[in-house]
Amino acid sequence: MEVKQTLRGLTPYQPGKPVDEVKRELGLEKVVKLASNENPYGCSPLAKKAIEDVLSDVAVYPDGYAQKLRTKVANRLEVNEKQLLFGNGSDEVILILCRALLSKGDNIVTATPTFPQYRHNAIIEGAEVKEVPLVNGEHDLDKMREAIDERTKIVFVCNPNNPTGNSIGEKPFLDFLKSVPEDVVVVSDEAYKEYVTAEDYPETVPLLKEYSNLLILRTFSKAYGLASLRIGYGVGNEAFMQSLDPAREPFNTSAIAQSAAYYALDDDDFLLECKQKNREGIRMFEQFCDEHNLHYYPSQGNFVLLDLNVSGSVTFDRLIRAGYIVRNGEALGFPTSVRITVGSKEQNEEIINELTKLVSGR
Ligand SMILES: *Cc1c(COP(=O)(O)O)cnc(C)c1O
Repeated sequence: MEVKQTLRGLTPYQPGKPVDEVKRELGLEKVVKLASNENPYGCSPLAKKAIEDVLSDVAVYPDGYAQKLRTKVANRLEVNEKQLLFGNGSDEVILILCRALLSKGDNIVTATPTFPQYRHNAIIEGAEVKEVPLVNGEHDLDKMREAIDERTKIVFVCNPNNPTGNSIGEKPFLDFLKSVPEDVVVVSDEAYKEYVTAEDYPETVPLLKEYSNLLILRTFSKAYGLASLRIGYGVGNEAFMQSLDPAREPFNTSAIAQSAAYYALDDDDFLLECKQKNREGIRMFEQFCDEHNLHYYPSQGNFVLLDLNVSGSVTFDRLIRAGYIVRNGEALGFPTSVRITVGSKEQNEEIINELTKLVSGR
């Protein structure tokens, strides 16, 4: 038995060590995972309540069209309901898009390093991936524009970029969008939008009126704290989004996820509080770096990429022994860095304490 040629060089997604395994292996009582940019404050109590409400209905299939949630999101964004496509996480929207658009001989354009799922899904579909190196953690949009050719189907823009956290401002984004041929899809992956404080961050949804090739990705996994339920969506041109829909599984988002997302949207206070605490946490890490002359990227997400000037594994080992699982930069294209999800104040303090010892050779 043989799988498709395109699958052969690929490895499955490495989710990082599970908390229980680390506890057992290292004999630790408390282990905190700050490796996947999940919300350290959980989710809104409204979402929790909504989950309980639908538990009695688990024997029936969910509404495959997610009508209730669809109407609410459409009203929020002031778009037509038919412009939305819900996925089992925004990861699945990336998969659907690649499945629907890409064949052998086609290509996509992305930054590198960036979120790996663009590349992964494109490769499976047999497409080529044109990767344009970041400059100082930022997308090189001019070079990305130059990389587009007649076989380019999708350009992925990750804003803010994972793993650097840099965001793209309104003017450069708009100039880029204008310059891309109208038959090439421009994906604006806004997984961390709710955390962004940069004043020049683009409001992309109104641009959909003018740019039929723009597709925006949003998720409930990060600031909304619903990562385990797997729900996110794409919003784009109505006819185009409808044409993608046959590539979607019939019941791809669960009733529990739909309901939790629906009620999570009512809790702006929760979101705002998370955003503020996150910003304070980022400042703590930046201050630590400034004090020790260490490089970091200005993050608009809920994570920081810190360069400790030692192999990422050294920092990773040090922190795991202190009960914190972070992401080793070696696997992210930044060999002397670690990516740390911003935790609670106490968690950030403990990590910074440990890192201070590390950089002082203690
Ligand atoms: C986390 C993340 C996603 C995927 O989120 P889902 O849980 O699949 O909705 C998409 N893009 C980026 C950049 C991410 O960091």
